[in-house]
Amino acid sequence: MQEYTAKITEIIQETKFVKLIRISFPELKKITFFPGQFVMIGHKNLKNDAGINIERAFSIASAPHQKNHLELCIKLVEGGKFSDLCKNFKIGEQLTVKGPFGKFLLPEHPSGNLIFFAGGTGIAPIMSMLRHLQKGRFSQKTILFFTFREPTDYIYQKELEELDKNYAQFTLLPTCTGQKSADWSGIKGRFTSVYIKEHVANPASQLYLVCGNNDFAKDIKAYLVELGVPKDHIKTEAWG
Ligand SMILES: Cc1cc2nc3c(=O)[nH]c(=O)nc-3n(C[C@H](O)[C@H](O)[C@H](O)COP(=O)(O)OP(=O)(O)OC[C@H]3O[C@@H](n4cnc5c(N)ncnc54)[C@H](O)[C@@H]3O)c2cc1C
Repeated sequence: MQEYTAKITEIIQETKFVKLIRISFPELKKITFFPGQFVMIGHKNLKNDAGINIERAFSIASAPHQKNHLELCIKLVEGGKFSDLCKNFKIGEQLTVKGPFGKFLLPEHPSGNLIFFAGGTGIAPIMSMLRHLQKGRFSQKTILFFTFREPTDYIYQKELEELDKNYAQFTLLPTCTGQKSADWSGIKGRFTSVYIKEHVANPASQLYLVCGNNDFAKDIKAYLVELGVPKDHIKTEAWG
């Protein structure tokens, strides 16, 4: 297994609870990975209660062609060990990186349309895939269903809206589930099988990549199965 030393080169406070951390690898030019994979991140002060060094998994949000950095999209969870460290990360901070790992990957030769479902930071591996697909100018129809709690939790809003505006093959369907979303003019509430059917023609023939928390992934999978989608057309990655 490959282990690298990386340095933080950029920190972007993307939303109140999400930081984008860009890292680079002084010893090598780039790390080779497929869109959708994740890495295990360690830090000298990331230890369990017994004082033993531990690591956390983070999906890679940048695409393989973005050679000068690897981007991680990190939600700061209350009382989380890594989250607490991450709040105070500075440029130049050293991390250890193992990987890449994971089988949440784009199909090699997709025959149907690509339909993505992201919940919160579940957008991270999907962002890597979208950035990769953008490089090929979205050669097939691609839809992103993206859900978050409040309008202020909309990660990658500007970049996603640009993709939606600039590529006819790409459709962005964001939805806000929170109570305080009075200033949100878009769709509100959770996705349903009815809503999915309205936006996806011939659902059984398309390919689905779903990433979010466990409940989100379970619900979306159940809706898709209800719409007649064969299970082998659905790939999921879930945490939390
Ligand atoms: C494949 C994969 C990819 C992932 N990709 C991403 C990603 O792209 N972005 C992202 O943000 N996350 C991602 N995650 C989740 C990430 O790995 C971490 O789980 C997350 O960042 C929380 O880590 P933490 O150390 O901050 O929190 P932890 O220390 O693990 O704590 C998690 C929660 O448990 C609570 N807790 C901790 N200890 C105790 C205790 N003793 N008693 C009671 N409660 C406790 C904390 O308060 C906190 O709310 C991914 C996970 C996997 C498996």
